[in-house]
Amino acid sequence: MIVSQIARTPGEVQAQCPTLDMTCVFDTKEYAQAVLKYQFGKADLVPCQMKKNGERCGRNHASGWAVRRRDGRIAYVGEGCARENLKALKKFRMDARGIAAQIRLSELRTRLTVALSDACLSQRISALSARLARLHERIVAIQRWWPLSLKKRIAGMHQGTPEVTVELAFAEQAEGGTEIFKWRLHRLGAVVGVEAMDLRAIRALSNRLDAAAAAATVREVDITPASEAKLKRWLAELSDVAVCESTLNRLEDALASFLAPCNLKLLYWTVRGRREQLYTLAGILRLLLGMCPTEAQVREAGAIWKRTLCTAHDARDLRVP
Ligand SMILES: [Zn+2]
Repeated sequence: MIVSQIARTPGEVQAQCPTLDMTCVFDTKEYAQAVLKYQFGKADLVPCQMKKNGERCGRNHASGWAVRRRDGRIAYVGEGCARENLKALKKFRMDARGIAAQIRLSELRTRLTVALSDACLSQRISALSARLARLHERIVAIQRWWPLSLKKRIAGMHQGTPEVTVELAFAEQAEGGTEIFKWRLHRLGAVVGVEAMDLRAIRALSNRLDAAAAAATVREVDITPASEAKLKRWLAELSDVAVCESTLNRLEDALASFLAPCNLKLLYWTVRGRREQLYTLAGILRLLLGMCPTEAQVREAGAIWKRTLCTAHDARDLRVP
């Protein structure tokens, strides 16, 4: 018999070990089995019964083992004495490993039971999944009218950063009046909230919530026979719910920032080529107007935006580099 919980008081040891005999001396030669591990507070210390130099150790070790002798009597052996005298025994090392594994299992089971006792857990997970599905739908609807070049550009620009600098180039005549032009970069601004546009991140979040939902259906009958690895996985999946929630909050905030008109307008300057720009512009106008723009509206808006932008920047002829 081994005990799967650390004994915290001598009373607990007595309850688990009816043959505990605090008067006997424990000789390594008499070793039969380690029964439990103890860890007492300062007020509860018990003297160690290990035989050392022919007599009882008698020292008060704060932690150690209750071990059974061949005659069935159980004695206290402090941690230090166990290390010095018992660690050499293969049987003790195996027993100690077995007890440690049982203790870990028992602690994991307790933590999992506590996590699963939250009656609102499943509800909370499905509410998050529903919010995430709505966010996904919105982003797909936003990107539906974007040219592929813009989608690629946004994905490339993102790479884990929440905002991305947009730079335009303008030509400047070289000094000395010769006809040589130098191109310089001009910082236009930053597109914010690009992380909300990353559908892969949203799919990954959705998978994590699905795993948590499955873990939330684990019952007591599943917990007892489960392996340590399985218990750890369930616990990790359940504790991930809070992380998923804060990520979702952040993505929703990112989308709100992304949809601000001044931010959307910057997208126009992130793609090259007249055709791509016009497609991008049409997509932006759809979002800003809430309807499909005509070709004339697209061209007119493009001309106005460019004029306004150049005027605001020392009347330079700005273009996408
Ligand atoms: Zn000792």
